[in-house]
Amino acid sequence: MLIHTCCADCFLKFYQALKKEEQVKSQIFFYNPNIYPREEHNARLLAVKKVVKSLNNEIKIIVPDYLPQKYFRALNKAGCDQEDRENKKMQSLFTIIPQNKRCPICWKLRLTALFEKAKEEKISLVSSTLFTSNYQDLSKIKEIAKKLSQEYRINFYFPQLSKAERDHANKGFYKQNYCGCLYSLIEKSREKYQI
Ligand code: SF4
Repeated sequence: MLIHTCCADCFLKFYQALKKEEQVKSQIFFYNPNIYPREEHNARLLAVKKVVKSLNNEIKIIVPDYLPQKYFRALNKAGCDQEDRENKKMQSLFTIIPQNKRCPICWKLRLTALFEKAKEEKISLVSSTLFTSNYQDLSKIKEIAKKLSQEYRINFYFPQLSKAERDHANKGFYKQNYCGCLYSLIEKSREKYQI
């Protein structure tokens, strides 16, 4: 199985929920052009490598080039930044694109790349650690994954994690405090500093 992996914590929860034979046959696809900045992307990747090492497992990690412009272009192509500016009649070059607009595009971008990679590598089963999070809209991600699965004719594995498994706090590696994109970073700091 090719597992789209967003961070070490989500990967560990996902991995622990897998049966032994599924664990052995898994590969990681670390594709997250949404993460900003590059240092954060690299910190999350290093944490994934550390976790894989600690599992004493020969899990292969596929890491495409970090190209954040793919994320911004996808938003731009969907017209959500422009539409947002017009709605607010803002002159500013920078506005925060709301989550309900940016997140579905972000999920689709990453999952489409996952299916593309699986097709290229002739892998018949894919999944994503996004399903281990309590902070994402799992029904919307499921909808996107199902459509892509039909389009690519590649099976998608939907992990079944209980709330307790999702909430479980793993330790011993870097854990981020914001979802990943520039907008979520700004939202987090505004919340923290009340600005
Ligand atoms: S908040 Fe998270 S899921 Fe939504 S666009 Fe940003 S990185 Fe992607």
